[in-house]
Amino acid sequence: MRKFKTESQRVLDIMINSIYTHKEIFLREIISNASDAIDKLYYKSLKENLGLAKEDFEIKITIDPSKRTLVISDNGIGMTTDELENNLGVIAKSGSLEFKKTIEKTDDLNIIGQFGVGFYSSFMVSDKVEVISKAYGQEDANLWTSKGTEGYDILKSERDTHGTTITLYLKEATENDTYDEFLTEYKMRELIKKYSDYIRYPIKMDVSEEVPIEGEKDKFETKIVTETLNSMVPIWKKRKADITAEEYNSFYKSSFFDYEDPIRVIHTSVEGATNFTALLFIPSKTPYNYYSKNYEKGLKLYANDVMIMEKSQDLLPDFFGFVKGLVDSDVTLNLSRETVQKDSQLKKICSSLEKKVKSELLDMLENDREKYEKFYKAFGLQLKYGIYEGWGVNKDTLVNLIMFVSTTTGKHVSLKEYVANMKEDQKFIYYASGSSADNVKSLPQAEKLLDLGYDILVFSDDVDEFSIKMIETFEGKEFKSISASGDLGIKDEETPTVTDDDKLLTDFIKKALDTKVSNVKISTRLKNHPVCLTEEGPVSIEMEKILNAMPAGSGNEQCNVSKSLEINASHPIFDKLKYLLKTDEETLTSYANVLYEQARLIAGLSVDSPASLAATVLTLLAK
Ligand code: ADP
Repeated sequence: MRKFKTESQRVLDIMINSIYTHKEIFLREIISNASDAIDKLYYKSLKENLGLAKEDFEIKITIDPSKRTLVISDNGIGMTTDELENNLGVIAKSGSLEFKKTIEKTDDLNIIGQFGVGFYSSFMVSDKVEVISKAYGQEDANLWTSKGTEGYDILKSERDTHGTTITLYLKEATENDTYDEFLTEYKMRELIKKYSDYIRYPIKMDVSEEVPIEGEKDKFETKIVTETLNSMVPIWKKRKADITAEEYNSFYKSSFFDYEDPIRVIHTSVEGATNFTALLFIPSKTPYNYYSKNYEKGLKLYANDVMIMEKSQDLLPDFFGFVKGLVDSDVTLNLSRETVQKDSQLKKICSSLEKKVKSELLDMLENDREKYEKFYKAFGLQLKYGIYEGWGVNKDTLVNLIMFVSTTTGKHVSLKEYVANMKEDQKFIYYASGSSADNVKSLPQAEKLLDLGYDILVFSDDVDEFSIKMIETFEGKEFKSISASGDLGIKDEETPTVTDDDKLLTDFIKKALDTKVSNVKISTRLKNHPVCLTEEGPVSIEMEKILNAMPAGSGNEQCNVSKSLEINASHPIFDKLKYLLKTDEETLTSYANVLYEQARLIAGLSVDSPASLAATVLTLLAK
């Protein structure tokens, strides 16, 4: 007996003890594996001229109530001894832990396929599973058996032709579960219609039929005939008008392993130099590994009815990597799986799909706002990354799709909406970093702008400001960080006149703070707050924080944005400062330091030297 790897054992335990109500999906998983195995062989045959005809392929189902067995057999590519060992003894893809976590959360077995554990679902209904497989072109066949609990055996065996036969020994009926239904013709018909109707190879079963006896009127006899139970017409080949939303959704969920309906279905046919039909889905939730290296984007690619690639990366730009689905095309087939990637036909399909997805998203943004918000919550970050990546090469495609929370409405607005609602005298598109609209509204730098009725975009993701730097302007309007020093676009009459006295004070404070700030000035943007920090160059304080938080050693030097300390001349503290300038320069130096550190804290920066700040505050309190 060979032992299962720990990972596999963990998943098997879940299956064996499963209490899920949708145990029936095991059949779909096994049939889908059989169909994949046929796809592989058919593709190989076309590529290597092996002369196999599509009509030769089939999946056969046999039930034997007396033995309590359900047999699913295919004449696909089969498995060698090593493949049996590696494919059925080890969990191939992502870890079982993730599977366990997800299944506990969702209680939905549709996700099984996502984890490459579909075959194991047979143990939900079986005490024992036997797999006899013969790889195409090999002499030997092997028998893999397991009861799921400890391990499995692999022995030499026999099989007439290449392919795989899976025999499930169904569990005995218990009080809660009767497995007997899986031994009935009726149930098999129902399940295949429900889950496997679109499989493009015939799923056959011997069924009994009442047929009239020849020559004898009104007399029938029971005959065993072989019937194909699935329609074999893939959903994307049907007329759009004949497909219900429910059909699209269930096709999506079972083919792309999601338990939620897609937020958008895109079914499109394009005729031209390359003809193709695409059936695309936009998921309504971020896949658990979407923003990790493990996520693989890609669309299933069929060429003239043959599945040639499970995940073709070249059919989608990275920034639309969340789109799932398939493309059925007439691209030429004499290409290996590798060279297909460079094919110019695929490039054309890709650019056509990019345009289509973009226009569908825009349509959703304009006409189905609630859905778009949900979509944006799941994948907005991806769109913003898309703008930033490659120094903005894709910004024109994506700029109208991004949104930010606005301080005026507290809701997401697109840039177009922002500009349309700008005040007449408003010069800039304002933005500030913060976790929420309220958070930005409480920033000292926002005070006057808000008073003027100007809206401020809330940048809550690290990438936001970086992408905006790529866009630069939108409809002729420049973006402006509310903490950028210099012209903030506030009208001239609002600007305070700086007296000589004021100048003496700011000069003194600049000297007291030394190199901590590059400038000290009277502010035009403050109303109630005494001080704030603004940045001098194109890199903002927010960007400084993000850049400095990146892992050391990645070639980034610590960045130190040159900052100005702005002082509010209308704040009561200002008079106190002026008074101290004349009477007590030492205390004024302490005040300057405390105000500076306060401004740092409000900007979300850490205090330069907590100990010396504490000492200074204490000295001032004791006065
Ligand atoms: P997945 O199909 O998601 O990879 P499964 O656990 O369902 O995960 O199957 C594991 C692997 O076993 C498959 O990837 C395939 O290589 C192999 N396999 C399963 N069933 C068959 C079959 N009928 N014919 C050939 N290979 C198969």
